[in-house]
Amino acid sequence: MVGDNQEGKDYVFGSILINKIKCSNNCVFCKAGSLDYPDDLSEESVAQLEHDTKYFFEKGIKTVDVSGSEPLKYSGIIPYLRRIRSLFDTIIVLDPGLKLANENFAKAFIRTGFDRIVLPIYGSAPAVHDACVQNKRAFKKLVAGIRNLQKFKKDHQQIEITTIILKQNKHNIVDLAMFLRDELGFSGIVVNAPMATEEGVGSFFDEFSVSFASIRDVILGLSKIEGMSFDFKYIPLCIFSEEELRWFNRHGRRMTFFNVFYTYNLPDGKKYEDHAKYVKRYREQVHFPTCDKCYLKKNNICSGILRLHYTKNARYRFHAITKETYDEIKPIIICGSVNKQDG
Ligand code: SF4
Repeated sequence: MVGDNQEGKDYVFGSILINKIKCSNNCVFCKAGSLDYPDDLSEESVAQLEHDTKYFFEKGIKTVDVSGSEPLKYSGIIPYLRRIRSLFDTIIVLDPGLKLANENFAKAFIRTGFDRIVLPIYGSAPAVHDACVQNKRAFKKLVAGIRNLQKFKKDHQQIEITTIILKQNKHNIVDLAMFLRDELGFSGIVVNAPMATEEGVGSFFDEFSVSFASIRDVILGLSKIEGMSFDFKYIPLCIFSEEELRWFNRHGRRMTFFNVFYTYNLPDGKKYEDHAKYVKRYREQVHFPTCDKCYLKKNNICSGILRLHYTKNARYRFHAITKETYDEIKPIIICGSVNKQDG
C-alpha cells in the first residue's frame, strides 16, 4: 500500500534475484522476454538462490526483496517462500502477476505468508498495458490475479501497484489511476520514470522514454484526481515550478516524491560483479548546474537526476528550489537512502 513502504528513513534490504528464467512479458523498456532464457531455473541457478538466501540470513538482514524477471514462474517458488518465511521479518515479492490469475496458485502464494507483493500495471485497458509489456493476454491475467489476491489475502499482506510513465502509456496514466480507484478499489499507486544506462537498455531508450515535459504534464493531470495518493520515484522536483509544488502540498499530501539514492543490495561474489556494475550505472544520479542553486542539493535531500534523464533533457527549464519553498513543501518529500553502502 502506498505510504507503508520504509523509504523515508535509511534502510537496507537484501535483493534475491530469481534470475535467468524466461519472462512471460517482454516489456518495451526491458525486453527480457526476448532473451534466450530457459522456462525454469537450472540446477546452477537453484544452488545460487540457496547461496544468496543463506548469505542474507547469516548477515542478519531482516527484509528481502524477491524479484528476477518473473519469480512466480519458478516451479519451486511456493516451497521456497514457505521455507524462508521463518528466516526474515519482511518478505517482498516483485512479479508481473500473471500466474496469480490461477486461483489455486494465488491461494498457495498467499499461504506462504509473504508480506508485500509489488505488481506493475501500465494501462487501464488491454490495448495499453499489453502494448507496454508486449504480451496480448497480460492485462486480463494480471487483473484476474489482483482480484484473486484481494479476495483471499490476509489483512497484513499488502498489494503495491506500480507503473512507469512511458511513450506507450503517457496519455492513459490518468485513466489508469481512475481504473485502479474505481474498478479495483486501490487508494494509491507508485509512479516511476523509466531508467536505463547509455549502453544495454539505453540503446532503445528512445523507443519508450518520455521527456520531463511529458512527465510533468502527466503528474499535473494526476494531481487533480480525488481519492488517490501517488508516490513518485526518480522524478526530480525541479521539473515543476515552485508554485506547482506549493499547490501539490496544499492539496493534502496526496503526492510524495522520492529522489534519493536507492539501489539493490546484491550478495557478495563474482557471480554478481557484472550485474552490480550495471545496476550501479543505470541508477547513477548526477547533479548539474541548476543543482548548485538548489536548497535540496545543499542539504543532501536530493541526489540529482538519473544520468540518462539529464542527457535527454539537458535543455529543459529546471527550477532550483529555495529554502522558503522547501520549508513549505517538506511534507511531500520523502528523504532517506535505500541500500547505500559506505564509500
Ligand atoms: S538538487 Fe538538482 S536534481 Fe534535485 S531538485 Fe534540486 S535542482 Fe533538481
